[in-house]
Amino acid sequence: MARPIHIDSVHKEYRSAGAVHVAVDDLSLSIPEGSFTTLVGPSGCGKTTTLRMIAGLETPTEGRIAFGEQDVTDLSPQDRNCAMVFQSIALYPHMTVRQNIGYGLKVQGVPREKRNDRIEEAATVLQISEQLEKMPAELSGGQQQRVALGSAFVQDPDVLLLDEPMSDLDAQLKAELRVEVQRLHQELDATMVYVTHDQTEAMTMSDHVVLLNSGQLEQFAPPGELFDRPVSKYVSRFIGTPSTNLLPATVVERDGSYVLDGDGFEIPASADRFANRIGEPITLGIRPQYLSPDGGEHRFTVIVDVVEQLGTEFVVHGRSNDTNIDVVSSTLGHVNHGDEIVVEFDESDLFVFDDDGKTICYGDELTNHSPKQQR
Ligand code: ADP
Ligand code: MG
Repeated sequence: MARPIHIDSVHKEYRSAGAVHVAVDDLSLSIPEGSFTTLVGPSGCGKTTTLRMIAGLETPTEGRIAFGEQDVTDLSPQDRNCAMVFQSIALYPHMTVRQNIGYGLKVQGVPREKRNDRIEEAATVLQISEQLEKMPAELSGGQQQRVALGSAFVQDPDVLLLDEPMSDLDAQLKAELRVEVQRLHQELDATMVYVTHDQTEAMTMSDHVVLLNSGQLEQFAPPGELFDRPVSKYVSRFIGTPSTNLLPATVVERDGSYVLDGDGFEIPASADRFANRIGEPITLGIRPQYLSPDGGEHRFTVIVDVVEQLGTEFVVHGRSNDTNIDVVSSTLGHVNHGDEIVVEFDESDLFVFDDDGKTICYGDELTNHSPKQQR
């Protein structure tokens, strides 16, 4: 039965050669029961360490982990009803696919008939029914990883943990396996925690995303919220491709009202949020998808460097003064290197970051005088 996972002030440090290295730094979050939650962030940010602590393969230096009401911090991995799938595919080479998938059940003493029912169910969900009597070496990498997923599935875990299970697969197989993994989630009554460094995987597959930054929690929210309501410059830059454009601006008072003074444009801003920030450098974030060559309340000029075609869309990489700017639009096919184009945007699509990279407010709150309304 799926259980929520409570991570409470968990800290993990490694000591080597006298030096202390903090891998996970005071992490607290509750992963909802039955959810598909993704831990995402750049390499080294603490994803695997967090997952291994949930599995019981590592012990937190400080803090507690609970599955529902049960504190599992000191419980061995076998006693957590938790299954884990790794990036490197771990199959027994001398066993058939059927034997590989059923091995865990066999060790537990599950009778052959029941085992076979469960194996066949897993094979159906993962679309490897035709491969059951083959040896692992006869399968493609994607099929092998499905077998590993099948071994986890048949154990009917309360908690299923996956650590970058698709990293070694090519793009096509990844796209296929993404669907398989989601099907697995629908069929299992389990809380799933999926680790990836790939924000596209995180955004497309999961219902909750945990974005880590140097061992610390940066934001924990549904994918849409990370995209539309990033709490920091870091989140806005990590989520979405190409990355959010960053435009420098300064808070200026003009005839008793406030404006965010950018390079060639001015954005009106409310006194509530900006009166105590006069003269402060800030950064405006705007997603490449919200810059457009035709239509918007504000505009600035971009010198084009490179144009890429992505299906029906064009990605224009250019510069505005010394700032790199990316624009995604379906109507920029005629543009070439060296061209000067005017791009427009609406202020409601902006993110406003302070000098430390924290979000001050979102564009739709800029002139809204009740700060509590949206956040
Ligand atoms: P991720 O999975 O996000 O790439 P990890 O959780 O593997 O990151 O690692 C987080 C940090 O902890 C990294 O800086 C890594 O070098 C360090 N680390 C992980 N495992 C160990 C270990 N066994 N000994 C020492 N340092 C480790
Ligand atoms: Mg890792």
